[in-house]
Amino acid sequence: MTNIILLGPPGAGKGTQARYLVESRRMVQLSTGDMLREAQTSGTEMGKKVAAIMAEGKLVTDQIVIGLIREKLQDTSHGGFIFDGFPRTLAQADALERLLREMHLKLDAVIEMQVDDDALVARITGRSTCGGCGEVYHDQTKPWPEDGKCANCGSTDVQRRADDNEDSLKTRLMEYYKKTSPLIGYYYAKGNLQRLDGLASIEEVRKSMAWIMGE
Ligand code: AMP
Repeated sequence: MTNIILLGPPGAGKGTQARYLVESRRMVQLSTGDMLREAQTSGTEMGKKVAAIMAEGKLVTDQIVIGLIREKLQDTSHGGFIFDGFPRTLAQADALERLLREMHLKLDAVIEMQVDDDALVARITGRSTCGGCGEVYHDQTKPWPEDGKCANCGSTDVQRRADDNEDSLKTRLMEYYKKTSPLIGYYYAKGNLQRLDGLASIEEVRKSMAWIMGE
């Protein structure tokens, strides 16, 4: 079992790489962003509570996301956990360390995906995903097939995130630099940090990840 954290600003490519690792290594993707969006879609109290915060691009409380992660750590019958978009604060990192210890799990690597801000704006504002299978598309670099059907599953459900616009992105980036980037130092000090160039092609990033994960 290999457990990793994907660290990087919004649009760095964490979700794309996580999806690949799920398919290729039977790993489980724990994306707190996806969990929170699901809570909104299913109309739970918590979902309603966080909707406005997320649309604006601010972070929801540590307590909520730590609770979501705790629930998911019980099942360990797979290739390992990919923490995607969690932890995002030092308090969350401390909580994760405690939770992993309780479950007798270890953290194998924290992979920082480095991308500059200009590239993020372009990536985020053109992004869409398939509602059927989660495949990620981009208006310029990977547009939807002409017939409007997802190349992976055939669904026609094109989804765009409410927070994938320039205004929210500015707030999301500020939140990242203020609250999440200190985790780079935190994991460096623990000897867990690995860095890769998130601007390289998807295939190149995959290879770097495989190397980091000891393949
Ligand atoms: P993401 O899909 O990872 O970009 O997350 C989308 C939004 O969900 C973020 O902008 C936050 O509002 C919220 N969110 C996701 N994960 C966390 C987290 N670990 N801590 C706080 N807020 C989060």
